Amino acid sequence: MYDFLIVGAGFAGSTLAERLASQMGKKVLLVDKRTHIGGNAYDCYDDAGVLIHKYGPHIFHTNSRMVFDYLDQFTKWRQYQHRVLASVDGQLVPIPINLDTINSLYGLNLSSLDVDKFFASMAEKREQIRTSEDVVVSKVGRELYEKFFRGYTRKQWGLDPSDLDASVTARVPTRTNRDARYFTDAYQAMPLHGFTRMFGNMLSHENISVMLNTDYRDVKGYIPYKCMIYTGPVDEYFDNRFGKLPYRSLRFEFQTHDTETYQSAPVINYPNDFAYTRVTEFKYLTGQKHPKTTLVYEYSQADGDPYYPIPRPENAEIYRQYHELANAEPNVHFAGRLATYKYYNMDQVVAQALTLFNKIAEKEKNGSAVVYAGNGNGNGHAVNGNGNGNGHSHKNGNGNGNGSRSEITKVLKREILRR
Ligand code: FAD
Ligand code: UDP
Repeated sequence: MYDFLIVGAGFAGSTLAERLASQMGKKVLLVDKRTHIGGNAYDCYDDAGVLIHKYGPHIFHTNSRMVFDYLDQFTKWRQYQHRVLASVDGQLVPIPINLDTINSLYGLNLSSLDVDKFFASMAEKREQIRTSEDVVVSKVGRELYEKFFRGYTRKQWGLDPSDLDASVTARVPTRTNRDARYFTDAYQAMPLHGFTRMFGNMLSHENISVMLNTDYRDVKGYIPYKCMIYTGPVDEYFDNRFGKLPYRSLRFEFQTHDTETYQSAPVINYPNDFAYTRVTEFKYLTGQKHPKTTLVYEYSQADGDPYYPIPRPENAEIYRQYHELANAEPNVHFAGRLATYKYYNMDQVVAQALTLFNKIAEKEKNGSAVVYAGNGNGNGHAVNGNGNGNGHSHKNGNGNGNGSRSEITKVLKREILRR
């Protein structure tokens, strides 16, 4: 009997698995339909031997000491402060827009004070900051909005910024100084040996079994467990009862070049040209030394794996209904970017998972033990691969489903050491 069946081995699921196993001695089965751990933060070596992020560039940054200290137990770090250039009017200029951006773009020599006045002279007055257009136009005016934000946002979301919540473009600040960092968080670093290795360390606990290449719906009825934590799309969990929640997807095109570096910055954004939104050269992020280099081009699309919840009022309304159902679902907790339909960064997901863990621990301390969920056949064997044979598999994604729990964990450990 497992104490917890956790669906999804991304930041949400892995953090909860680790905490429940190591702090409460809970027996956890972590299931993911992908063939690897790490969720969207998964990284791996491509055919050329370059460390890439399979689902687009992931840069860790947080202001939360708690989150940083938590992850710090599972990885060494490489200090890394992210920088992005935008291709605008035939130039590559810093984004977030700063003093240098304006001076380069307009051939000026303004000071910080001057540029503040410059923005004020361009800004449009808005009574209310409601949309992603309002945020930018009210700060820097329509011209810079058109150059840097409108085209990018339309490509990325398939929507005009005026149809998106303010929170989306508000992620990118405007500066009057020369700070060219994309983030200003107190902690900015990349896991020294990559995200997947860090996840491997988190999950390398004898109470955690990992089953990959497995949709939880295929095994749920065969696995006895007391409580579920679900980190997949919340609408999918409820069979789209209130309609599908819109998510934005991406297509990634990887290119490897026979040269040490290819572009002049870790990321170049293309707000106005080309079908892709941005191009990332991974070696800047990872610090890897290699004679070749790999870049990823991101093409946004409506269909495909769900990557981004789309923050706008009509979607918030659909989510509200799912949230009510989720709250009423006995013995199931919902966590993570897809299950709570929040445009969260990695650190926010970890913080959310740690909060949920504290809640679960507190509840147990107060004696309100979880009730058996009633799923599974109660013989405790299905998980060992003796169940329905529905694609049980381990980290390699090639398991035959006959491995015991500890065997699955051992395979995972071996795989991690090999990396
Ligand atoms: P996920 O990582 O999506 O994990 C959910 C898991 O559940 C998946 O592995 C999925 O396969 C599994 N699952 C779903 N349904 C089922 C099912 N039925 N059965 C079994 N398994 C299932 N954040 C940052 O902080 N910095 C960045 O630079 C950054 N860049 C990003 C770039 C891109 C292109 C994207 C898409 C996101 C980026 N993020 C970034 C956000 C980051 O990816 C998320 O915050 C984080 O990975 C979310 O973790 P999660 O566990 O909630 O979800
Ligand atoms: N954005 C933009 N131009 C840019 C960078 C960002 O218009 O050069 C807008 C766009 O809507 C984007 C949002 O700001 O989706 C958030 O940007 P961020 O880089 O945080 O996106 P993410 O890394 O989450 O894809």
